[in-house]
Amino acid sequence: MGRIAILHTGGTFAMESNEQGKLRPGTYAFDYIEKSVYPLFDDHIEQFQLCNIDSSLFRPSHWKLIADKIAEMYENYDGFVVVHGTDTMAYTAAALSFFFENLDKPVVLTGSQIPLKDKRSDALQNLVAAIEVALRGNLNEVVVVFHNAVFRGNRVKKRDAWDFDAFYSPNHPKLIKLGIDMGRLDRLFLPKPTGIFALNTALDERVLLVPFFPGFDFSMLLPVIRDEKVKGIVLEAYGSGNIPSDNPGLEELFAEASGHAFPIVVCSQSPAGKVNLHLYEAATKAEFYGLISAADMTREATLVKLMVALGRFGSDLKKIKKFITRSIAGEKVAE
Ligand code: ASP
Repeated sequence: MGRIAILHTGGTFAMESNEQGKLRPGTYAFDYIEKSVYPLFDDHIEQFQLCNIDSSLFRPSHWKLIADKIAEMYENYDGFVVVHGTDTMAYTAAALSFFFENLDKPVVLTGSQIPLKDKRSDALQNLVAAIEVALRGNLNEVVVVFHNAVFRGNRVKKRDAWDFDAFYSPNHPKLIKLGIDMGRLDRLFLPKPTGIFALNTALDERVLLVPFFPGFDFSMLLPVIRDEKVKGIVLEAYGSGNIPSDNPGLEELFAEASGHAFPIVVCSQSPAGKVNLHLYEAATKAEFYGLISAADMTREATLVKLMVALGRFGSDLKKIKKFITRSIAGEKVAE
């Protein structure tokens, strides 16, 4: 008999309509699940309410709340299912994957496009799948279960606000496909760690995401570096990491960043593919000034990883660079 803890955080999953027909957090999910989901399993399932909010209201403190609760209950359960809104699920999944060290149990995030008690809801199916995966998926990592697929948590993106098939992981295959049985791709799973489970939630959220566009003046970012309010930037470049190198403000900005030991990480506006700063002449300046390549990480994983790097290593640019370039929890290709 397995032991599963369901941690509720809110999202559409447990919402209901208010008088104006707008969705707001509801309080019925606990009872509903006890009646309709517990009888499906011979296992021990318990539920906990951590918060009950639309995930667009999530801040890094909520990521820590979830991580702390899991760490506190770690020995008492075989797996954890986190019910979460879909809007920022990818950020939370990435954060949890970096916070846990030597994770040897499944942490499964799920949610739904339609509330649990509404007609045609996908909530029950997703939750039952998430519990089943937590019990029998043989996983030692943070994953997202949605619409019959299991994704590595730090590789997912929400791609659709309407379709039930709402998530994808453009640079990584699904870990498991749920058909009439579990189509597991065990060779892709993170190996069981040998060290002792630990939690490190250090993080500095003072980062900025800058997706530039034709006509963008890079010198607009100079005050950002000089003010010292922002501690790191994720620059969302074109394709495989191209940056308009003839832009008058660009060299000044990169020189300023390098003078301040200020980290700039380059990820791509194209969800699939990989940043390669050695490929085009247009990326030469980024390479020259020591910008950090996000390789094939998603925007979500890159931002969160930079926050974690800043929280752990402060202004030590060398360590930040090493941390971002390494694969911590399968979030990027090994280079
Ligand atoms: N706005 C909701 C949320 O992220 C959307 C959802 O759960 O699907 O909480």
